Amino acid sequence: MNLPAYLGMPSFPEAAAAALADPRLRGNLSRATRPIRSKRADAVAELADWAELRAAGKAIKDHTLAHLDHYLLQLEQKVTAAGGHVHWASDAAQANALVVSLTRAAGADQVVKVKSMATQETGLNEALAAAGITAIETDLAELIVQLGRDKPSHILVPAIHRNRAEIQEIFRREMPDAPAGLTDDPAELAAAARTHLRRAFLSATVGISGANFAIAETGSLVVLESEGNGRMCLTLPRTLISVVGIEKLLPAWRDLEVFLALLPRSSTAERMNPYTSTWTGVTPGDGPREFHLVLLDNGRTTALADRTGRQALRCIRCSACLNVCPVYERVGGHAYGSPYPGPIGAILTPQLRGMSSAADRALPYASTLCGACYDVCPVAINIPEALVYLRGRAVEAHPQAPFDPERLALGAAAWTLRDPRRLAVAQRAASASRRLINAAGSAAWTKRLPLLGGWTRTREAPAVPPESFRSWWARRSRGGAPDA
Ligand code: SF4
Repeated sequence: MNLPAYLGMPSFPEAAAAALADPRLRGNLSRATRPIRSKRADAVAELADWAELRAAGKAIKDHTLAHLDHYLLQLEQKVTAAGGHVHWASDAAQANALVVSLTRAAGADQVVKVKSMATQETGLNEALAAAGITAIETDLAELIVQLGRDKPSHILVPAIHRNRAEIQEIFRREMPDAPAGLTDDPAELAAAARTHLRRAFLSATVGISGANFAIAETGSLVVLESEGNGRMCLTLPRTLISVVGIEKLLPAWRDLEVFLALLPRSSTAERMNPYTSTWTGVTPGDGPREFHLVLLDNGRTTALADRTGRQALRCIRCSACLNVCPVYERVGGHAYGSPYPGPIGAILTPQLRGMSSAADRALPYASTLCGACYDVCPVAINIPEALVYLRGRAVEAHPQAPFDPERLALGAAAWTLRDPRRLAVAQRAASASRRLINAAGSAAWTKRLPLLGGWTRTREAPAVPPESFRSWWARRSRGGAPDA
């Protein structure tokens, strides 16, 4: 259930504080997310029926999740009938063990990979390395991350935190066949990566992929990508292994039409995806000779059992919610300590990993609750609703200290607010202390309070009014002087 590649990372508040102190990171993020936000808005505005498409996407995903058992068995039956092999993995360790054993059975010590969130989630590259197998990422951004011994920080653009000069530096340092005099020109960098990867494509006997969608009615998988390297991985190696989360199902091909309209416009602001590859089992004389589908649970059935939390499983990983999130734009993806950063990560990761660690309990708080993520989500995931709900679960999951000051203060407030007379007494006491606070200068004073200090450290405390509402109302009603 753990995400091994991210173990040991600090929890969000510490990681975010460190990221905020890095002006180059903030500059890279801002330059990358600002244009894609406006381009997405333009691409979406072109479709008069966007709201209907969005509702259809939500309805299809909800229907599929409600009947997941049926569609998973249908998928298994169709993949098997088409000559593929289906394996079930309940957690990350099981999925990784399956891929290692299938790769060994194919006699390979090197694999080429299509960009895949599911294998990042399971920490597959680390598991393969431990078994003596080299994984080569073939997506350009994933390759940059891998060569830089880094971690992805965005769902769609894993190296979004790097600028051109940093990428040039990484290629010169880590790519033995990089041309002498390589500059930071994007076309030159892409050409260097293409040459570097070509040898790997031509010699690989095992390819590893995820899938954007799995079509139950025919047992077909669908991968959407922009560079064409994914298609090389899917067609050239003799053995293809696809690790796919169980929530990626669609019942039928006609459902895909909706998502082929929603996903490109939401992710890259394109009207149509550049490379859409589909395959069904194995086909003699064409593509891989062996196909294995590893269906990954890893916490998804637990999320599915939760009425509010399950909506996160509708996610099609478009990354639109990251690009509009004011928190993500300032701290980047690494602060979330998960392959799923941004708003979707804040609701998906604690459900997949559970809330036993402080790092996972902190994630639902990594948001201002502004609602921008909900507005842009092409499958209408109500992320703010899920965040608030998961904050409640985080509080319940956290073992309380016997004299927790916040809990004691809120208990006292609840007791006071339950009775109008108690409230009146408390307000008179507050009126008396008001003079003291104003005499001491409220801003400096509140910064030193044990409970309010954290709140007022980054905010101006409002000046305490000269009179309470209750006192003002009583005076107004009597037409006399204030009583406090
Ligand atoms: S939650 Fe919605 S907007 Fe965010 S990545 Fe998933 S589908 Fe896209």
